[in-house]
Amino acid sequence: MAGEAQADCLFCKIVAGDVPATIVRETETTVAFQDINPQAPCHVLVIPRAHYHDAAALATAEPALAADVLREAGEVAAQCKVADTGYRVVFNTGTGAGQTVFHAHAHVLGGRGLQWPPG
Ligand code: 5GP
Ligand code: ZN
Repeated sequence: MAGEAQADCLFCKIVAGDVPATIVRETETTVAFQDINPQAPCHVLVIPRAHYHDAAALATAEPALAADVLREAGEVAAQCKVADTGYRVVFNTGTGAGQTVFHAHAHVLGGRGLQWPPG
């Protein structure tokens, strides 16, 4: 069923505490943790506790939860002290765009210059 934890999903395991992660923020509906392979001084992933394949599936099924993820991305940026200098929120969607973990997640990147377009 949509939103249910998936036994083979890495990020569901992080939500459950079965895989360790450096948690930076938690809410009733979301978890934010350090990316294991950071691409910037601030590189945090924000995920819904519920499992959705990607950001579009999340927003379609539970728009309020998608809004929680976006709001938390802003809170993470403030906590990382990159809110004033600028930061990027990225939802890689599909393998062609670099999505490797199929549990919806926002990358929050900041603390260095960020090129646009990203390439
Ligand atoms: P994607 O490529 O799907 O947009 O992003 C997945 C992200 O998850 C990558 O940036 C990758 O470094 C991160 N990642 C993969 N495995 C782990 C892990 O076990 N722990 C943490 N904290 N991050 C992970
Ligand atoms: Zn999952």
